[in-house]
Amino acid sequence: MKEKKWDVIVIGSGPGGLACAAMLVKSGKRVLVLEKNDHVGGKPVTVERGGYRYELGPKLQVPMRDPAFRTLFRELGMEDRLGQVLLDAATLCYRPDGSGEFRVQVAPQTGDDPTPLFDLWDLDDSERERAIAAMAEMVSLDGDALDELDEVSMKDYLATLDVPWGLYSYMAMHANASLAEPIDRVAASEQLRIIQEIAASGGGGYYLGGFGRVLADVAAWLRANGAEILTRQRVGEILVSDGRVRGVATAGSDFHAPVVVSSAGIQPTVLKLVGERHFDQGFVERLRALEPGGGWATVRYFLDRPVLETGMALAYSDQSWWDLARARAVDDGEIPDEVTLFLTVPAVFDPTMAPAGKQCVIAGTLCSPDPLSKTIEPLYRRVDAMFERVFPAAWHAVERKECDGPLEVSDGTRDSVLPGQGGECVGLGQVVGQCGRLKPDPELPVDGLFLAGCDAGAPSMGTHQATGSGMKVAGLVERWFDHAYAT
Ligand SMILES: Cc1cc2nc3c(=O)[nH]c(=O)nc-3n(C[C@H](O)[C@H](O)[C@H](O)COP(=O)(O)OP(=O)(O)OC[C@H]3O[C@@H](n4cnc5c(N)ncnc54)[C@H](O)[C@@H]3O)c2cc1C
Repeated sequence: MKEKKWDVIVIGSGPGGLACAAMLVKSGKRVLVLEKNDHVGGKPVTVERGGYRYELGPKLQVPMRDPAFRTLFRELGMEDRLGQVLLDAATLCYRPDGSGEFRVQVAPQTGDDPTPLFDLWDLDDSERERAIAAMAEMVSLDGDALDELDEVSMKDYLATLDVPWGLYSYMAMHANASLAEPIDRVAASEQLRIIQEIAASGGGGYYLGGFGRVLADVAAWLRANGAEILTRQRVGEILVSDGRVRGVATAGSDFHAPVVVSSAGIQPTVLKLVGERHFDQGFVERLRALEPGGGWATVRYFLDRPVLETGMALAYSDQSWWDLARARAVDDGEIPDEVTLFLTVPAVFDPTMAPAGKQCVIAGTLCSPDPLSKTIEPLYRRVDAMFERVFPAAWHAVERKECDGPLEVSDGTRDSVLPGQGGECVGLGQVVGQCGRLKPDPELPVDGLFLAGCDAGAPSMGTHQATGSGMKVAGLVERWFDHAYAT
């Protein structure tokens, strides 16, 4: 049989891979997508179990009103299908040191009034003024000023502003919840970009039918427009000779194309799929030193009645968020009594996500990205304890629960090729000196080989970052073809 001809092979069908594939198909390229799982979507998968539908991976879209998925759907001429649902209010629970109780505020997400947050932190008038001045400074930094902060931690940046403790503690929690990083390791440039997006476009959206439905729509568009997507096709090798990409090999077949875009992660792509021997030793050493982002320990609670009224809830204390010292203590087996809880409730956004009269609450907390970490099981129990303590009515309505963490994330998406890595929820760590302008180049030093997704190509949060990267990398691939045909 005559072999089909492809211009580009995309490895992986997560947001990065599919966004890149779609933009390339739109510009007339013949694209093959190979996915090792039996479904498309990467981490954003929405499962259907026991009458419920819910996410195993991402569950809240930041920014709320203008995410990269909207840009992508507009580019593909199907913006009306995006089915975005905006968060109208969030429940915020905070226990400052010295207080036995958690304070609770329900904060509307539609305006920009910080009063509910200031009340939560119990700021006096002068602290409110200082908080407003610091927040105004953070959202007014332009792109160049942000670039200057690629090598500054958020903790060090905040030290240059006169921030009241309540705001600092909130930012430390936000670094964990939004970037899966400690505040003294996360690059200020990355966290501030997300803060600016939230300030401009709101802090949490969802999609009718869940995140998985959005990716399934992109895959359907691709198939309808001539791309081929093959699932259960694990790429075992990227074929390279004479410094150029030739295609990829799966267990059963070889597929050939002059360009390969990998969303399998930079370290798995270079160390496992291509092989170190094709790269300069200095490049390989820098790549080995790139840190994984944090993992996420998730517990899903299935309730016999609807209890939570907002689509998102946060519970944290001055003791619950992790800086580097606390993260290391956990690695050494010292599991803290309090953990930060990030909760979402899909059925508040889309009532069809749960059977009538029931509710699924997805709770999670930061954890090690190491699929083999022994600290994940104890963290599930701390999630239970916090959930019971802060949301007792919901706890008493629990019929059953399920847990998953970095092991399942790595099995489902990213291979672990270096010790302690594989179960990261975002991708590479968005840490000091390794992101922004210092993030790896999406064009790898093998002719025709590109990365798309969270490891290269765009800043910001999770799916927004990966989708933005995919679209940008499609542009780089176009340029590669322009150059290849011109010479
Ligand atoms: C628990 C959890 C919670 C999260 N919460 C949020 C959130 O609330 N908001 C948000 O925006 N983001 C969130 N994220 C992050 C978000 O899901 C990721 O940032 C995003 O999915 C990364 O996209 P990607 O395309 O880079 O990679 P992925 O989504 O990981 O996709 C990569 C794809 O490549 C495939 N693949 C890998 N190796 C091979 C191979 N050798 N051959 C073939 N296929 C291969 C994988 O199977 C996968 O389908 C969360 C993630 C997790 C795990």
